[in-house]
Amino acid sequence: MLIPCPECERSVSDRAPTCPGCGFPIAAHVAELAATAELDRDRTTREVTGEVDCQGCEARGFTHGADGFAWCRTCEHTGRVLLCRSTRGYFAVARLHVDRFLAGERDDGDPIVVFLGTEPPAAHRYPAAGRRVVEDD
Ligand SMILES: [Zn+2]
Ligand SMILES: [Zn+2]
Repeated sequence: MLIPCPECERSVSDRAPTCPGCGFPIAAHVAELAATAELDRDRTTREVTGEVDCQGCEARGFTHGADGFAWCRTCEHTGRVLLCRSTRGYFAVARLHVDRFLAGERDDGDPIVVFLGTEPPAAHRYPAAGRRVVEDD
């Protein structure tokens, strides 16, 4: 397929690595267009399909690190966030922001929306929220 070079407007093959006329990186440009089209599809096909473990607190509802104990705000202390699906794959989405995610106003890239990949996540990887696990010694 021929596309116009964004730099010099000459018609170039969309498989050319660079524009033969001006050297513009066509391959990178084509990859960017494909990513944008995929993101558009992703944004219009999002739906909630269930619940998934909160990655931020490992489904515990709280975090305990160098800063000490803190309730997890991503999952609102529940240890679970919503599992969403689109053409791109699966996402863990904080309940508080799910409306904006479904509307295509938020994407992955911060703790409230985490891209999980193209395969559905396995059953809960972590113990249920609120359950205290006691190790035998
Ligand atoms: Zn060009
Ligand atoms: Zn959490």
